[in-house]
Amino acid sequence: MIFRDMDLDKIKTPCYIVDERLVRKNMEILKNVMDMTGCKILLAQKGFSMYALYSLMSSYLVGTTASSLNEAILGHEKFPGEVHIFNPAYREDDMENILEITDHIVFNSFTQWYKYKNMVHKAEEKRDCHISCGLRINPEYSTGDHAQYDPCKEGSRLGITIGNFEKALNEGMTLEGIEGLHFHTLCEQNSDDLEETLKAVEEKFGKYIMGMKWLNFGGGHHITREDYDIARLIRLINYIQDKYKVTVYLEPGEAAVLNSGFLVSTVLETMENGMNIAILDTSAACHMPDVIEMPYRPFIISSGEPCEKKYTYRLGGPTCLAGDIIGDYSFDERLIEGDKLIFTDMAHYSMVKNNTFNGINLPDICVYSEKEGFKVVKTFGYEDFKGRL
Ligand SMILES: *Cc1c(COP(=O)(O)O)cnc(C)c1O
Repeated sequence: MIFRDMDLDKIKTPCYIVDERLVRKNMEILKNVMDMTGCKILLAQKGFSMYALYSLMSSYLVGTTASSLNEAILGHEKFPGEVHIFNPAYREDDMENILEITDHIVFNSFTQWYKYKNMVHKAEEKRDCHISCGLRINPEYSTGDHAQYDPCKEGSRLGITIGNFEKALNEGMTLEGIEGLHFHTLCEQNSDDLEETLKAVEEKFGKYIMGMKWLNFGGGHHITREDYDIARLIRLINYIQDKYKVTVYLEPGEAAVLNSGFLVSTVLETMENGMNIAILDTSAACHMPDVIEMPYRPFIISSGEPCEKKYTYRLGGPTCLAGDIIGDYSFDERLIEGDKLIFTDMAHYSMVKNNTFNGINLPDICVYSEKEGFKVVKTFGYEDFKGRL
């Protein structure tokens, strides 16, 4: 079993369990990339904000990046290290607070940068520190399969195209005060796609990278996946750093906690309607929204594809949404009420995206560690449902 000394029957479900040993394994892989290149790696909190593990993660990574003021505050409070932020368009009423706690701010346009430039300088004086500002670029080079996750697609609002970049410069705006460029175009991809993307970035923006202090490669690098070509990543980072004299930043969310979390659920009821059906105490819509949104089929331990094993079931959630279906799975034995099913790879984009639709309770959040075994770090109830309405 994956969790030694752990009696699954005693666990209240549904619950997310993140295995500290597996997070540490990922952290060591990321740390090795930093050691081999001198680049800096941040945790993208958008994908994983379970701060119970920030202390451990901060002993490997250099800091966090945020997509909002709230994420920035969490990184600042709980994760010792640099605090970065990117937002497609900053709210004026957030900016003052953002400027109190961030080290790097990435702007999505020249107009945003010009709008907030003076506030940045004032904050620097007040804090007696330097805030490094950068611009997000759009290399207009798509490599992914999911249009929903492609910031290079036509009509994208994310990043400055070379056309708009040079138009702004021609209209008299300058890069004075800008210390870095940022691109984020990948999603669950290998370093061959990064290599292609870097070619496009260099071809279009190469002369502007020259003279910058840093280049941020964004997230979407599946570095901790078994078949990821780390040697090529290291070569690419070293090549860019040598050629342009910049520090490379990476900000993976998913790769930081890939394959390190589980969602444990219990079968509440089984039935038949032309096929075997099981209703679980966990919901695709509420607890693993990417199953419906992305969409994808999560793996369940000891299960097979439909009809691969003797008994095939359609697994659904406890909500009234007809489409709250996790998928069709087969098992060696019949499912019965009380059976536990363990979904794998549930650390990222789960807790940060879940919701209380139908008033369904949120799963407990738990850590498993070698030293302390199984520990519940957070439980939820009626007040959490009511509190957000
Ligand atoms: C989503 C996002 C990330 C993290 O992406 P992963 O796919 O989780 O690695 C990093 N940077 C930016 C700007 C993002 O939008």
